[in-house]
Amino acid sequence: MADISRVLEVQRILEVAVDAPLMGVFDYLAPLATGAPLQVGQRLRVPFGRSTRMGWLVGSKAVSDVPEHSLRRVSSVLDAEPLLPPDLLRMLVWASRYYQHPLGEVLSAALPKALREGRDLARGEMCWALSAEGRSADPDELRRAPAQLRIYRALKAGAAPATAADLEAVSGNWRRAIAALAARGWISVSHSAVPSPVATVAPDEPPVLTAGQAQAVAAINAARGFHCFLLDGVTGSGKTEVYLRCMAQALAAGRQSLVLVPEIGLTPQLLERFQRRFPVPIALLHSGLSDGERLRAFTAAGDGSAAIIIGTRSAIFAPLLRPGLIVADEEHDPSYKQQEGWRYSARDLAVWRARELGVPLVLGSATPSLESMENAHSGRYTRLALPARTGAAGQPQVSLVDLRQHATRDGLSQPLLAAIRRHLDAGGQVLIYLNRRGYAPVLMCPDCGHVLECRRCDARMVLHQQRGQLACHHCGSERPVPAQCPDCAGELKPVGQGTERLESALAAAFPDQEIERIDRDTTRRRGEIERRLNRVRRQEARILMGTQMLTKGHDFPRVTLVGIIDADQGLFGSDFRSAERLAQSFVQVAGRAGRAEHPGEVWLQTLFPDHPLLRVLITEGYAQFATLALAERRQAGWPPFSCLALLRAEASERHTVFNFLQAAAALARDHAPAGPDVLGPASAPMERRAGRHRGQLLLRATARRELQLFLPAWRAALADIETQRRVRWSLDVDPIDLF
Ligand code: ADP
Ligand code: ZN
Repeated sequence: MADISRVLEVQRILEVAVDAPLMGVFDYLAPLATGAPLQVGQRLRVPFGRSTRMGWLVGSKAVSDVPEHSLRRVSSVLDAEPLLPPDLLRMLVWASRYYQHPLGEVLSAALPKALREGRDLARGEMCWALSAEGRSADPDELRRAPAQLRIYRALKAGAAPATAADLEAVSGNWRRAIAALAARGWISVSHSAVPSPVATVAPDEPPVLTAGQAQAVAAINAARGFHCFLLDGVTGSGKTEVYLRCMAQALAAGRQSLVLVPEIGLTPQLLERFQRRFPVPIALLHSGLSDGERLRAFTAAGDGSAAIIIGTRSAIFAPLLRPGLIVADEEHDPSYKQQEGWRYSARDLAVWRARELGVPLVLGSATPSLESMENAHSGRYTRLALPARTGAAGQPQVSLVDLRQHATRDGLSQPLLAAIRRHLDAGGQVLIYLNRRGYAPVLMCPDCGHVLECRRCDARMVLHQQRGQLACHHCGSERPVPAQCPDCAGELKPVGQGTERLESALAAAFPDQEIERIDRDTTRRRGEIERRLNRVRRQEARILMGTQMLTKGHDFPRVTLVGIIDADQGLFGSDFRSAERLAQSFVQVAGRAGRAEHPGEVWLQTLFPDHPLLRVLITEGYAQFATLALAERRQAGWPPFSCLALLRAEASERHTVFNFLQAAAALARDHAPAGPDVLGPASAPMERRAGRHRGQLLLRATARRELQLFLPAWRAALADIETQRRVRWSLDVDPIDLF
């Protein structure tokens, strides 16, 4: 492929990455009249099959391998200038090869939907927002002007100023409404794509750094060019403060900072904290935005008008005009890995991007991934440790409830109930963790033993009592709860507990307390997580409970007790990463206890109080766990001491799946007898899902290069396997879950 940073010299035949699920680039004839010389990275429309598709210009040549009379011509050129800067384009070209995913789809995944669909960048678009006066105004004054009220509410709820298109979606009458609101002095007009800083946020006074923080900041700020740091700091040790100081240096040098977080729920909290420190425009990029908002944030990152960009996974594709720093917070979090389509890891791409941009990268976590730990051991990353919390609170005290000796009711044991009561009486807040949604994971008939199962998956239906539905958490199918056992007409009984049941049990035990439950069921509506978290922060609810959504970086300064309902979940997982995941969520959830001035306690309920994994975590901590786990991984030859690629396949017939996978395995063994180990084929851990049979083949190589040399030819050969057309298959390079 041509050097992608240059204007093309030969322009007869264009090489185009088409947004289609096919590897390789396609040759087209150049458009007849192009005007300006074409440049790599421009968007094109091209005929493809019987329709037209979006494509990206990636190279050119004088002669094609395809006979010229069968070449088709590019329909149109969409951009005068390439949309993506050369560094980003290079990364995506590299990533397409690394992950063995079609370049057109890779490019398409990297762009906001509006650009993918052919719209232009949001340069200079006129935007409307509430003025300071408008923000503090009483919307009750608009009682008699419903259109104005709707516009007012939309502006107040929006994360960024609204464009004409955004307002059009709210009310057809928006121009008159805006004019009327402007007459009240409630509107400010801008042409910028991101909000100017909100004046109402009180600036904060930076704290005096702890010795550990000061060392970390000095090391990062001394880096010239690319350097990767692993900021390994226990929860509450002030990692965010370290990011802030490094961002301050970048800002002072006129450079942008890109900050990645694993969860959309973490962005408002971080945004507020950054805004208190820096009176500069900050762009947000995450999946909760409208297409217009996303496009504006993307534009603002690329034209330099946003000084700071905060975003989830796909924000790693934000173009940066003056890059200075990249941060990936909670770097161990599996959400950094895209789990469908193009399965990239934003954390890993961040390393590539930072190197390409020549800027420092800070990977932060209280529970670093074993990959990053090993990179620190081997000296590829510089480890910066923050072993202690800021402020007075030490590490929380951990106690076990041995469930062999204590009965539970709806999941709650007497010792845990007593601890909750004690902490509430002392004025603290409590956080109860159970990583299982719904009322009960099993609904069964005690008379005949019948268990209600999903008709399309090898899985049990989960009882959601509030909705009166049985739901499959794997394929999403639902059906009403039957009145009686379908086999013997006996009475059905819920077994085990999910958050819904736990919530009612807590409500019964603490009738005078407000309870805030946070899981995917209670936070479906936009902004709902924030509303609930705010009620907790304002102490309106003192019992907080929910799933792993709660374990991710949220700061609850007044939580003094964390209760883990089922510490055994995942203790005996089949994946080689189960132990790492369990250790991470355990340490993360325990870390919510006792921040700021309030000492904390963690109580965990277990049937296996002597399990070695629990013991080492409790008595020696995550670092020791990681050392032991890495030794096991090395011995067993799992990552980071090997590299994996997983071929997944599914079809309506089991034998089709296995025919295909066996052929794929044979190809791998024949093509490269000295190549990667071929493990399988095997059934997926859940063999039937959504009515389809699933199997997989695992490739394991000792080095990344070995795998990378092997994959392209093998992947191409897969397309020739006879059963290929009857299976749905995908290749996952560096999979993080083996199912
Ligand atoms: P982490 O990101 O490691 O969990 P934070 O940066 O959120 O930790 O810090 C935890 C708390 O400690 C926050 O309330 C923060 O304001 C406070 N904090 C951070 N650094 C300091 C410091 N040097 N002195 C006093 N308080 C600090
Ligand atoms: Zn199902």
